[in-house]
Amino acid sequence: LVSRDFHPIDTVVHVRDVAIGGNEVAVIAGPCSVESEEQIIETARAVKAAGARLLRGGAYKPRTSPYEFRGLGETGLKYLAKAREETGLPIVTEVLSPQDVDLVAEYADVLQVGARNCQNYLLLEAVGKAKKPVLLKRGMSVQIEEWLLAAEYVMAQGNEQVILCERGIRTFETFTRNTLDLAAVPVVKRLSHLPIIVDPSHGTGRWYLVPSMMLAAVAAGADGLIVEVHPNPDHALSDGAQSLTFENFATVMPRLAAVAQAV
Ligand code: PEP
Ligand code: MN
Repeated sequence: LVSRDFHPIDTVVHVRDVAIGGNEVAVIAGPCSVESEEQIIETARAVKAAGARLLRGGAYKPRTSPYEFRGLGETGLKYLAKAREETGLPIVTEVLSPQDVDLVAEYADVLQVGARNCQNYLLLEAVGKAKKPVLLKRGMSVQIEEWLLAAEYVMAQGNEQVILCERGIRTFETFTRNTLDLAAVPVVKRLSHLPIIVDPSHGTGRWYLVPSMMLAAVAAGADGLIVEVHPNPDHALSDGAQSLTFENFATVMPRLAAVAQAV
């Protein structure tokens, strides 16, 4: 189902009024975590004004340490829905477990499966039964073929609206949080008809590398981007070091449009 051999035409995933996989580059932006109603609404307004088409924000957070902030849960989903009401931006948010899929799908426009769950086959099957598009991140130690087979798990359940997301992999390099594998973009385009987007925030872990990698991802043929943006990155409850300020996000967006025009 994933292979281009049996489906030569590019798949376009429609999320409300946004098409991912068409001619446009769709930018998904927002904080790593939903922290409060004010924070998510303020961010939604700012990223929309700068040209983002969808809003991201985690309500269920997979944290490396169990003592870190793990998200607001359903309250966070409600704040996201409020931000959508205020701005019209569709919502992308992560679901961590099969039991939560129905609840998250009640609020979300796109169900995000995070890197840590890329090969959680029961979760993949659960989102495969949902009636919402799925954003499937590449696992940090997952090969491209394995990642495509993970997408196959979703599609085999009848949900063909899958967006792949390259977010960096583990290598010996430690300066960056992960090594962003931009070659995965043309590889996936060759092997599959599914849209592929890039996450330069988790891909680098450092905010000042994010704008360059946004431009490079689009030059490499990405169908979109997912970028962390926070009103006050120094005080973010998660991933502040890789989050753009509103100003930095607004500065890179016209440059991104220029690259998109050129490729
Ligand atoms: C996130 O998007 O905040 C996230 C946890 O990403 P990843 O699954 O790529 O680490
Ligand atoms: Mn994050």
